[in-house]
Amino acid sequence: MLDLTNERTAWDRDHFFHPSTHMGMHARGESPTRVMAGGEGVRVRDITGKESIDAFAGLYCVNVGYGRQKIADAIAEQAKELAYYHAYVGHGTDASIRLAKMIIDRAPQGMSRVYFGLSGSDANETNIKLIWYYNNILGRPEKKKIISRWRGYHGSGVMTGSLTGLHVFHNAFDLPRAPILHTEAPYYFRRDDRSMSEEQFSQYCADRLEEMILAEGPETVAAFIGEPILGTGGIVPPPAGYWEKIQAVLKKYDVLLVADEVVTGFGRLGTMFGSDHYGIRPDLITIAKGLTSAYAPLSGVIVSDKVWQVLVQGSDELGPIGHGWTYSAHPICAAAGVANLELIDELGLVENAGSVGAYFRAGLADALAGHKHVGEVRGDGMLAAIEFVEDKDDRAFFDASRKVGPQVAAALLERGVIGRAMPQGDILGFAPPLCLTKEDADTVIAAAAGAVKSVLG
Ligand code: PLP
Repeated sequence: MLDLTNERTAWDRDHFFHPSTHMGMHARGESPTRVMAGGEGVRVRDITGKESIDAFAGLYCVNVGYGRQKIADAIAEQAKELAYYHAYVGHGTDASIRLAKMIIDRAPQGMSRVYFGLSGSDANETNIKLIWYYNNILGRPEKKKIISRWRGYHGSGVMTGSLTGLHVFHNAFDLPRAPILHTEAPYYFRRDDRSMSEEQFSQYCADRLEEMILAEGPETVAAFIGEPILGTGGIVPPPAGYWEKIQAVLKKYDVLLVADEVVTGFGRLGTMFGSDHYGIRPDLITIAKGLTSAYAPLSGVIVSDKVWQVLVQGSDELGPIGHGWTYSAHPICAAAGVANLELIDELGLVENAGSVGAYFRAGLADALAGHKHVGEVRGDGMLAAIEFVEDKDDRAFFDASRKVGPQVAAALLERGVIGRAMPQGDILGFAPPLCLTKEDADTVIAAAAGAVKSVLG
């Protein structure tokens, strides 16, 4: 029999340029490669038949879990019926029109239209262009700067990689580019002044933002973008009062708010959107991942009525908007989205994310309580993280070269569970499919406790 494992591994190392991968180590065979082959519910299987619980849902995207027949059927039917038609000059398909309606029905108040893209990155690229267009139409061409946060993640294109506030996405890429600025990360555990309460730290973050707006000139600052809960930057819930204080500053200086809900949209925090969860009233919302549970690539920008009215004015003055992708509102992806959102409702996954997520985080915290190298167990909804420290009392972090986070993630995998070593800091992240059961959660907790013990004692 052909040994697919060896053959595929050789082809992989010789020909496949992987994203977010150490290229040299991979090509030289110094890092593991895993060829995935199947999945069911929260479990995935590789080509050797080894099974793992995927406690990161791919890249926090397979929200309904693997192997859902309903979505596969919807994709197949759409492919047979009409695999493609574009959405330019007013064209659509039943699937794309239905999906837009379903999204607005679920979205926070005041939302009006959905522009469809393919990835979170391109949706944020659309956001940047809409923000600039908006201010040009309003006759304020100098109001163009966009403020993001250190440790935010908004994609890895030229401008969206600039919005991202993580060093690995900037290094040697000549990013970030103007007119993108970064302000304080709302990361309470890593605050400099440890005497601050959460509320005080939130005020500190809002003050830093206001200082930046005043220093730049409010007439030059167009928008602020943030994930409701920091994701790739460390899975960090906002400190108490954060969004209220930030929004007060934005309102004062007429700065638009973009909620990047690529991770939090469609149930991950136990509410349909993270904006509802934290009392955020955005002008634009970025969606992707959970929109189709990654069964097909689809993203979107949800545009508020306030912004939409200005876009309409723009078309009336300038003609059709000069923005669009060939694959915007791709019918196969839209059909996957419709089936996925129906499934989320049918299976009660938003509620499950809230209840099993809380059970999971409490169990993790319990299992690791008192461990001298566990600085914090945190999260919200079906998102959790363990942050490791060298010294708990001094809150001293490990040197990055020791790779504590990646070692714990590797030990977790040996125990049959996939977590994610987050890219900046020694942080083990969890974002399981929203269909996780309490029994699955117990398995993940036991594996995590075992992995931490095996690496850190
Ligand atoms: N925004 C957030 C909050 C994300 O977490 C991500 C991806 O992880 C993106 C945007 C970029 O999405 P994509 O990788 O689909 O371009």
